Amino acid sequence: MTQIYNFSAGPAVLPKPVLERAQAEMLDWHGSGMSVMEMSHRGKEFTSILAKTEADLRTLLNIPDNYKVLFLQGGAIAENAIIPMNLLGADLKTGEADYVVTGAWSKRSVEDASAYGKINVVATSEVESSEAEKFTHVPAFSSWKLNKDAAYLHICTNETINGVEFDGLPDAGNVPIVADMSSHILSRPIDVSQYGVIYGGAQKNIGPAGLCIVIVRDDLLDRASPLTPAVFNWKTQAENQSMINTPPTYSIYIAGLVFEWLLAQGGVVAIEQQNIAKATLLYNYIDSTAFYSNNVALNNRSRMNIPFFLRDESLNDAFLKGAEANGLLQLKGHRMVGGMRASIYNAMPIAGVQALVAYMQAFEQAH
Ligand code: PMP
Repeated sequence: MTQIYNFSAGPAVLPKPVLERAQAEMLDWHGSGMSVMEMSHRGKEFTSILAKTEADLRTLLNIPDNYKVLFLQGGAIAENAIIPMNLLGADLKTGEADYVVTGAWSKRSVEDASAYGKINVVATSEVESSEAEKFTHVPAFSSWKLNKDAAYLHICTNETINGVEFDGLPDAGNVPIVADMSSHILSRPIDVSQYGVIYGGAQKNIGPAGLCIVIVRDDLLDRASPLTPAVFNWKTQAENQSMINTPPTYSIYIAGLVFEWLLAQGGVVAIEQQNIAKATLLYNYIDSTAFYSNNVALNNRSRMNIPFFLRDESLNDAFLKGAEANGLLQLKGHRMVGGMRASIYNAMPIAGVQALVAYMQAFEQAH
């Protein structure tokens, strides 16, 4: 059977040992006689799973004690609205926040947040005239027109669709930075203390869809509008171990297995080295030939999501068909950008990237 490599942007590939373990534990979790799916979220079995999952995430990201970790539902798109509700202050309409637009996802965040308060776009890399060139870099930090009275500064540190990743953080003074890290959380070490809020949907580097992780600094928990639904009120959830409602228990369980796997790999320091090796392999090949291209600024090229184009776009269908026949799945680019996209998250082995490059070489030779 052909070895399959799945380059989906998300839901995405999970580590095989995690899936095997979930399979082994499916019918009877640790002698409990139950599947995790069948357990009460308030029972001792599941509360032990949740506690271990949070503890391992804290270890992996070195999360300081003055940050709460929330396991919520609604995904990152729901957070686009939940963030202003929690941070713009009691009287939403008078609140103001700064947003930087570096791709489709941060643009969407602006659109969603704008219903709740005054949203200032303080920098953008959008080029209206071309879909392919639309977002290809993070504007220089010195050009950002930051407001010192903003309730927060929102950024998306890895743009999944455009393949644009931050290579540093601006100095926002006392304004808390709120970062959508959905598609590169846990791919590299970060200094959590530089952020007010970090959030991300699980379905790329964490686990199955349905879980959204929010890491929030304690002092930001007192600012929610009274209109915030209880399930989306970070303070209420923090005070109730994310259990004001029924949390997505099975997704949390798989996330816990992924965290254990990541710790066994050597944590984010070790996985970063693998991610650098994988991304370098693919970018080096793309740059070595005129047959393929990637037009993201070198210092903002994402290690996780690598969009690329064939010089002759009429070959796109043949490229994808041949890729699939070679076990290389879900390489079609996002409809907004076109071309191809290889998402190479933590769980993608280097062998998958090697197989992709070998196929790209063979395809180039054949055409
Ligand atoms: N932000 C980023 C960076 C994403 O990649 C995605 C999903 N691809 C989202 C937000 C939206 O996530 P969801 O569909 O889970 O709400």
